[in-house]
Amino acid sequence: MNTQPSLHGLTARAPALADWLDANAETLDTDATLSADVVPQLAGAGLLRIGVPVELGGTGGTIGDAIDNVAEVAGHSFAAAFVLWGQRTFIEYLLQSPNRALRDRLLPALLCGELAGATGLSNAMKFLSAIEPLQIRAADTPRSNGAPAWRINGGLPWITNLRKQGFVAAAAVDHEAGGPPSIFAIAHNAPGVTRSDDLDLIGLRGTNTAALQMADTLLTDDDRITDDAPAWLVRVRPAFLGLQCGMSLGLARRSLAATHEGGPGARAAVVDDVAALTDQLDTLTTRLKTGVTQGDFVDTPASLFKLRIALAELVHDAATLEVQTGGGRGYLRGLSGLARRQREAAFVPIVTPSLVQLKNQLAAQRAQHIKLGTVS
Ligand SMILES: Cc1cc2nc3c(=O)[nH]c(=O)nc-3n(C[C@H](O)[C@H](O)[C@H](O)COP(=O)(O)OP(=O)(O)OC[C@H]3O[C@@H](n4cnc5c(N)ncnc54)[C@H](O)[C@@H]3O)c2cc1C
Repeated sequence: MNTQPSLHGLTARAPALADWLDANAETLDTDATLSADVVPQLAGAGLLRIGVPVELGGTGGTIGDAIDNVAEVAGHSFAAAFVLWGQRTFIEYLLQSPNRALRDRLLPALLCGELAGATGLSNAMKFLSAIEPLQIRAADTPRSNGAPAWRINGGLPWITNLRKQGFVAAAAVDHEAGGPPSIFAIAHNAPGVTRSDDLDLIGLRGTNTAALQMADTLLTDDDRITDDAPAWLVRVRPAFLGLQCGMSLGLARRSLAATHEGGPGARAAVVDDVAALTDQLDTLTTRLKTGVTQGDFVDTPASLFKLRIALAELVHDAATLEVQTGGGRGYLRGLSGLARRQREAAFVPIVTPSLVQLKNQLAAQRAQHIKLGTVS
């Protein structure tokens, strides 16, 4: 049984970045002084190119490698991993977009970290699950040559990685003229786009998390990631969620590793629990990476939802074990990352799709199966 979770991946592969994250994890969580540096740091270590085809400027590999990458960063700084999630997920949107010109225009700046990519698709994911309507609307405004164009109005209350130096954000938009909603890439300097001040968060404060408002912002087909958001989201959701689950993998792994830093008595008390959680983590990691890489979850999203729930519970259990073995030291400021990881663990259940949302969806699905007689 493996009871010693490895934390050496990033340290071995990108030591300068690992050191920077370790030295600044507390700052990245508690204030915004380093918020401009995160994307360039991640890019400098080549992390944004992982799982991106070589012919598109990446270093190759699979989406499973990109998930590992998020997990490794989360073991050092959850705030940086959240930024990486936003950036890499936006990159994934372009890789899976039929709009090749948009991909070719934005990808180079995103991969080298000049441009930040933000994913404002919580609203769209909740829309897909019939929880809330889309919050941005588009009115047809064809150009003089007859080419389609739209004026969009609305806003998103939460988006991470709205880097003040320049960003592009993905958002789902409802068309007043009817038809399926679209997803657009909205540039920070498009007319009518306003970024709020950073939100006053209890943690993750170095993540450039703010609200975004659009007032009569003119967009064209050149900015459109897809013209059929529901169908496209179903295909992209496994990567979106898989990369997000990477944050849970890394955080759980880090908390389990921290239990080994306790005294011998404390370690002995939790050794069986740590071993069981470590085994469970290994199993869930393999199932997640294999399922996302092979495309299994496109048709069976419920299996992915169950994995996301299991991982969130594991993060909670691992964080609790870390508290138990940390003793009073964990309650002193600046002596360990324990308090920070408690705040980070509290974020895991609420990020979309939230645990309550997924549990409700699974319950509704079960009820439907029972009604149809497909479950005993
Ligand atoms: C620090 C931070 C960063 C974030 N960054 C991003 C980002 O980059 N991009 C982004 O798009 N979003 C982001 N979010 C938003 C986040 O993903 C969640 O969508 C948001 O916190 C939950 O929305 P809410 O608070 O408005 O929940 P509410 O809508 O108030 O709902 C409360 C809870 O109930 C659930 N719920 C509501 N109605 C139903 C229903 N009918 N059935 C089942 N469950 C239901 C919701 O999922 C939620 O968990 C961020 C949030 C935080 C705190």
